[in-house]
Amino acid sequence: MTTCVVTGGAGFVGSHLCDLLLEKGHAVVCIDNLDTGSLENIKHIRSGHFRFVNQDITEEVHVDGDVDFVYHLASPASPIDYARLPLHTLKVGAQGTWHMLGVAKFKRARFLLASTSEVYGDPQVHPQEESYWGHVNPIGPRGVYDEAKRYAEALTMAYHRQQGVDTSIVRIFNTYGPRMRAHDGRAIPTFLRQAVQDQPLTVFGDGSQTRSFCFVDDLVRGLVNLAESDEHLPVNIGNPDEYTLLQLANAVIEVSNSNSKIVFEPLPVDDPQIRQPDITRAREILGWKPEVGLTEGLRKTIELSGRDRLTGITA
Ligand code: NAD
Repeated sequence: MTTCVVTGGAGFVGSHLCDLLLEKGHAVVCIDNLDTGSLENIKHIRSGHFRFVNQDITEEVHVDGDVDFVYHLASPASPIDYARLPLHTLKVGAQGTWHMLGVAKFKRARFLLASTSEVYGDPQVHPQEESYWGHVNPIGPRGVYDEAKRYAEALTMAYHRQQGVDTSIVRIFNTYGPRMRAHDGRAIPTFLRQAVQDQPLTVFGDGSQTRSFCFVDDLVRGLVNLAESDEHLPVNIGNPDEYTLLQLANAVIEVSNSNSKIVFEPLPVDDPQIRQPDITRAREILGWKPEVGLTEGLRKTIELSGRDRLTGITA
């Protein structure tokens, strides 16, 4: 039986990845210190092939038995979280990634690093393709996250080139779906929380900045495709359909049948103006493309989350 280690497996994306891997008949070892994740996200899992380990990966990590894949997702991921945990964010990207690459090397496992579109910073090219090196402010409030991920990418390539570890890097673009935290500060959970309570939706700036939103089922399918390929260089995974934040707010209001109005608030520091993945490499190398459009994805998120989760009454 194939065994997969998933760090950050009790988080939003990680828990969906655990579900898919179990569905494919694999055994899963989920390592998480529950910093921003929750047992609520994995409590539905009944499989005897699933093991949860409560551990901080910035400490030494030992995994019993054979391991075929290491999916390394653990990291604070929303601006609210990495503003609250700046040093920890850098440490997870550095020490945490060292430890998990060490596990992959020792176990001769294929390693997948969950990187981010934030490595492109506030991009000067559009859409962003993997060959673009980015435009990042290293000393701004978002620098701890962006640079941690850039360091983790460099470390991953060094382990591949010098140590011969079989590695892969995915650059994930904005993803949404059930199990997002209502108060994590990202646009979709915030808008949904406000819309289902008929409160005003808070759009930053004039709402003309763009994002591209990928439904989580599409994302985790892409992660598994990449891990099971023999590609070593970064691959963007995201939905190229691009929306302004104002369009997104209106879509959320419509899908949730809300009476909410829209209000405008100041833009956060270093908030990227544009964000759209070029997914040519994912299409060509992995045969991957997203299948769930925004309206359908928002509808599924509302249906599968329930009101308590969307409003943050349950974690
Ligand atoms: P999340 O906060 O829901 O999940 C992160 C998980 O990592 C949490 O369960 C948290 O408890 C765990 N974690 C953090 N530090 C840890 C540590 N030191 N040891 C063990 N576990 C630790 O965030 P998410 O949205 O699911 O993101 C998952 C990954 O995907 C992250 O690496 C993130 O950078 C990347 N990513 C996500 C998005 C997105 O839109 N969701 C976009 C780009 C990249």
